[in-house]
Amino acid sequence: MPSSESGAPDEILLVGGGHSHVIVLRELGLRPLAGARLTLVSSAARTPYSGMLPGYVAGHYDFDQVHIDLPRLAAFAGARFVADEVIGIDRGARLAHCRSGRSLSWDLLSINVGSTPRIDLGAEGRAHVVPVKPISGFNQRWLALLQRARLLAAAGDVAARPLTIAVVGGGAAGVELLLSMQYRLRQEFAQLRADPERLHWHLLTRDRDILPTHSRPVRQHFRRVLKARGVRLHLAAAVDDAGAGWLQWQGTDGAERLAADELVWVTRAGGAAWLRDSGLAVDDDGFLRVGETLQVAGETHIFAAGDCASMIDHPREKAGVFAVRMGEPLAGNLRRAVAGRALVAHRPQRRWLALISTGDRYAVASRGAFSTAGHWVWHWKDWIDRRFMRLFADLPGGSA
Ligand SMILES: Cc1cc2nc3c(=O)[nH]c(=O)nc-3n(C[C@H](O)[C@H](O)[C@H](O)COP(=O)(O)OP(=O)(O)OC[C@H]3O[C@@H](n4cnc5c(N)ncnc54)[C@H](O)[C@@H]3O)c2cc1C
Repeated sequence: MPSSESGAPDEILLVGGGHSHVIVLRELGLRPLAGARLTLVSSAARTPYSGMLPGYVAGHYDFDQVHIDLPRLAAFAGARFVADEVIGIDRGARLAHCRSGRSLSWDLLSINVGSTPRIDLGAEGRAHVVPVKPISGFNQRWLALLQRARLLAAAGDVAARPLTIAVVGGGAAGVELLLSMQYRLRQEFAQLRADPERLHWHLLTRDRDILPTHSRPVRQHFRRVLKARGVRLHLAAAVDDAGAGWLQWQGTDGAERLAADELVWVTRAGGAAWLRDSGLAVDDDGFLRVGETLQVAGETHIFAAGDCASMIDHPREKAGVFAVRMGEPLAGNLRRAVAGRALVAHRPQRRWLALISTGDRYAVASRGAFSTAGHWVWHWKDWIDRRFMRLFADLPGGSA
């Protein structure tokens, strides 16, 4: 462990302002860590809270309500905030190299940079799709789409052409995002007295059903909702090519093509390319392999948490809830590492509660075989999410 023999403070570098690191920063702000200098480097100064993202798209929350102000949180924790993107690390020299050209040194490194949707297309196809991550990039495209839809709606229904939106990815994020976008755009059309039926929706998934990790009743519930909302569902449709205004997949009768104005990509995620190139232990999806102490396999000075980490003995779905739950044990182990004490194991829960909304302030709760649904579930989720965000808005003794 790096407890400095020289007496100089240890440099702790947090890479990425994800769900685990925001908890770490809050913890270290509440109980400052003596003998360590803390730096947070993150590509975004405002980090989104994933649970509220569909609600933001649906128009239930504004930008500030769903983002955590990282410089302010870092200041609370006594940490230096650096707005930059890490593009590689040198384990020998203990340096993190950033896109701007600067390098940051560390004695202890912790990585919480999330994941990126895997886009199995050539470079040309990739240029025409809108990946949901990074969220900041998605948000810009979403705001542009909103504007485009408003102009189309304002142009009137006579001789106006439809707007077709295709979402690729049938997991909870894809389904929820489609329903939220649809709810919002239909509202915009209705306000401008345009016919919302001019908005056409398609959901494509390579699997045989949507929400494959959820129970049958949950899958049936969402299939019913999608049907009632006029969403065309394409199952077993692995998209393998795309261009300006179209996408293609191999169906049972050969290649099938769909014309779409917007192609949103929300598929299974992988780890960032630089993690794979780092020489650190990664799994087949490019995620860092971590043990129960959240140290990267074979490393004593490097920790990882959230989507970018795969717990070797406890494989779990990629979900913000696990990233959040790793925050406290990670803060504890960083503290122990600085003090030269033994680290403690973290064992994530086996089952977790997913609250998946349908855009219209209605949600489905899903946990293993249990499920329930209603507007009350959405209000419950809203209460949980707002309470989480208050942890960072109402910092003890802090300025608002
Ligand atoms: C539409 C949608 C809805 C979702 N809804 C839910 C939900 O309701 N519940 C749930 O549990 N999960 C949900 N998820 C999944 C959830 O988003 C992820 O599991 C969660 O965001 C993972 O958190 P994280 O902390 O690992 O990473 P992230 O939240 O992705 O945070 C990563 C941070 O690191 C920064 N960063 C990235 N790369 C670098 C770099 N190279 N250098 C420096 N900084 C970097 C980013 O700017 C960001 O601040 C949803 C996902 C989507 C797409």
